Amino acid sequence: MYMTHLECPKCSAKHTPHKLTQLCPECGAPLLVRYDLAKVKANFSKEDLIKRKPDLWRYRELLPLVDETNKISLGEGMTPLLALSKLGRQLNIELYLKDEGIIPGGTFKARGAAVGVSRAKELGVTSLAMPTNGNAGAAWAIYAAKADIDAYIVMPVDAPAITRNECAIAGAKLFLVKGLISDAGKIVGRAVAKLGCMDASTLKEPYRIEGKKTMGLEIAEQLAWEVPDVILYPTGGGVGLIGIYKAFLELRQIGWTGNKLPRLVAVQAAGCAPIVKAWEEKKAASEFWDNAATVAFGITVPKALGDFLVLDAIYQTNGCAVAVTDEEILNDQAELASVEGTFVCPEGAANYTAAKKLCASGWIKPNEKVVMLNTGAGLKYPDTVRVHVPVLQPDEDIPL
Ligand SMILES: *Cc1c(COP(=O)(O)O)cnc(C)c1O
Ligand SMILES: [Zn+2]
Repeated sequence: MYMTHLECPKCSAKHTPHKLTQLCPECGAPLLVRYDLAKVKANFSKEDLIKRKPDLWRYRELLPLVDETNKISLGEGMTPLLALSKLGRQLNIELYLKDEGIIPGGTFKARGAAVGVSRAKELGVTSLAMPTNGNAGAAWAIYAAKADIDAYIVMPVDAPAITRNECAIAGAKLFLVKGLISDAGKIVGRAVAKLGCMDASTLKEPYRIEGKKTMGLEIAEQLAWEVPDVILYPTGGGVGLIGIYKAFLELRQIGWTGNKLPRLVAVQAAGCAPIVKAWEEKKAASEFWDNAATVAFGITVPKALGDFLVLDAIYQTNGCAVAVTDEEILNDQAELASVEGTFVCPEGAANYTAAKKLCASGWIKPNEKVVMLNTGAGLKYPDTVRVHVPVLQPDEDIPL
């Protein structure tokens, strides 16, 4: 175990990782896990990975679990990095899709839940509560079930219906709110104060980032430790982007990659684009986005607790932030499926729209290596697909 402490990115205070700590007790900012990277560098080599299982725990030296027996795993991680050669050729770039649709529960939220719930168990947590746009709640519900932890989940009534079913079948205590995730967050806040359970809200505990960080570690490993030029990420709370950034910083520090960092692109829906607005205005933090609405439900986050970390990651890597419309998202979702056979979620499709825009503007240059995160399976959003299917009578022929 190489974890040394929890560090506050705002006030630099250090805290022990050996008891449950939510936000920084000094200033209320999200906390980051720190490791003894010099020791990791000395004791962990790329060759060690060869004989390890293809799941996210293969990077255990860079993960916060103290005792392996607390690991709660459903086989998450090492998702495929697909070369989208046809679409890449059209854009004159080397285009990849990291497909998180193929993971327990069908979204990358499994990564944060696996590591977050494992650590919760390790720290003796018996109940947790969280607001969610659906996918995180579903993921935490299934991992909490395996860990014998009670999960209180609150999600908007408009969240994808399948995520409700997942929470319910996993035995979570599920509640719907006539409002947004921000409203669900207020309800959870009151529940946490009353029940004394762990608050598993986005970034209110430090371990979910560590799970999501493994997307960055895997991308690097799958590209044979060659850092891609650009990574596009559909950004809601931004945990994945913060995690991927952290992964590349840590890899650089242990000497597995060179000095290069990928330019990180936060992709948001035009109907909820607080990070894009803040980036365009060169601000360090975002403002609450009123009347947020988009088909890409997982990125409907009007104000992210870690917005300053997302923006910092973008600025530090010379990245950018791009907003795309629902119309573009749905068209590009269909293009990805019909050309490359990849049925991605709307959030994942948003990246492709953004990539096209950035190629057109010259921000992405010819032959650059570009990785898009597909954060979830299209199968989880059956109702966003527009289908017009002719119905035949048994004696009718296919019209040719
Ligand atoms: C949660 C979610 C996102 C956004 O993730 P963050 O890391 O919180 O920004 C993107 N896509 C899908 C499918 C999601 O469920
Ligand atoms: Zn602090």
